[in-house]
Amino acid sequence: LTDAGTLARIEAARAPFAATPFAAAPMIAGKAKGIAPRAAISPATGVGVGAVTDAAPEDIDAALSAARIWDAPQAERAAILNRAADLYEGDFGPLFALLAREAGKSLPDAVAELREAVDFLRYYAAQSAHLTRAPLGTFACISPWNFPLAIFTGQIAAALAAGNAVISKPAEQTPLIAAHAIALLHKAGVPAHALQLLPGDGATVGARITSDARVSGVCFTGSTETARLIQRAMAENLAPGAPLIAETGGLNAMIVDSTALPEQAVRDIVASSFQSAGQRCSALRCLYVQDDIAAHFTDMLFGAMEELTVGDPWHLSTDVGPVIDEEAEGGIRAHIEKARKEGRLLRQLSTPRKGHFVAPTVIRVKGIEDMKREIFGPVLHIATFDADDLENVTDAINATGYGLTFGLHTRIDNRVQEITEALHVGNIYVNRNQIGAVVGSQPFGGEGLSGTGPKAGGPDYLPRFTAPDPGQPGGHAEG
Ligand code: NAD
Repeated sequence: LTDAGTLARIEAARAPFAATPFAAAPMIAGKAKGIAPRAAISPATGVGVGAVTDAAPEDIDAALSAARIWDAPQAERAAILNRAADLYEGDFGPLFALLAREAGKSLPDAVAELREAVDFLRYYAAQSAHLTRAPLGTFACISPWNFPLAIFTGQIAAALAAGNAVISKPAEQTPLIAAHAIALLHKAGVPAHALQLLPGDGATVGARITSDARVSGVCFTGSTETARLIQRAMAENLAPGAPLIAETGGLNAMIVDSTALPEQAVRDIVASSFQSAGQRCSALRCLYVQDDIAAHFTDMLFGAMEELTVGDPWHLSTDVGPVIDEEAEGGIRAHIEKARKEGRLLRQLSTPRKGHFVAPTVIRVKGIEDMKREIFGPVLHIATFDADDLENVTDAINATGYGLTFGLHTRIDNRVQEITEALHVGNIYVNRNQIGAVVGSQPFGGEGLSGTGPKAGGPDYLPRFTAPDPGQPGGHAEG
């Protein structure tokens, strides 16, 4: 993105879409009924960027009846998923426009997201050559708004690569991106009966799909609370042993000790806490800084924060865009306000006046135990620790019950080993940027309240989308 030629090409490709209204209808193999269209809203401006017709109960029924496993040979399925990856790459103009306008993604975030979606398609296409078991049947794929292209596509690509039929329900906030992506997958050759889209909200469309006995398994990414609801609905309505593959929330910590390289640690903290406006499951929420460097270190951090540009994601210079909607903005602001009243607000940048923006903010806490829930926005909590107390810090992190990401900046080798062995966390980043998945090389998934495993983008993922071996009733060897 630093190369001016690349920027100019991206600008030229997305410019024609600046004001284009997009439309999404339920894409089902049968005849769609839909319910009255509603507007899809831009989080940056609060203005409609298109219209969506959510699925009606009849659409859900028709989609589940029409769903058939994708029985093309593995090599053909893989070729079609690879063709879809090519189509995604070729269509970057409208995809960036949709990511910026419907999801509020900054351009660097949109670039990374498209890359990840394409990587998922190609990786699962390649991995499908190693599968020995049959598809399970119809998979419900339920995805969040925060990676409306990458996670949405990753779930679908995995289920399809294994030969399943997919019913996909995107987040209510991002149906247009979903519809655009599904159109590309169909264009690549995925048959309509093997891939159907049902836009709508979670409590109605999502709940109905995940409680229908025609569904053989569910792939879900979203909050831990929603995963619990889905687990309950599946236990009551789906066949025993139907898998729930869930990636959920986190309360992610980082420890920076006094041997760390401060410039490197500050850079990683700013990126992990504030990129994507903190709306990543992997984002750093609670930073522990060793007490003897804390004053100087936080000054450096505040200095680096001042360099961030908060604003319209459509502008190429923006680092931090809006949060997703009014409800998210209200919840995050209430959390910050409480900290302000308690005298714990350490730093806050200023925000644009229009749209759902929350400025990058730093709040003081005694420890991660002060954080009762995941604050899904650009808010970093800071605590200090004494070197003799490190065990209390790792105990407190484990006690949250979440286990998604953890970062460590230190140059003491023993400490790396001690801390990483003590923590029950899916992804650990030592002296580097605490980010999410790198498909194929850094599989991603959490422990405890953060997910069921196996890790997405890794070699153990696809077998979960297949039927158990005969002779192992209800069980998968990889658990
Ligand atoms: P959410 O749980 O509110 O919604 C996720 C999806 O579930 C949406 O499509 C929603 O419509 C649907 N849903 C809601 N209620 C449902 C129900 N009763 N039955 C079926 N479906 C239902 O989450 P969100 O706000 O969209 O996303 C943010 C959350 O996702 C955060 O907690 C974040 O940490 C988590 N997340 C985790 C990962 C990961 O890999 N671990 C990745 C991205 C996001």
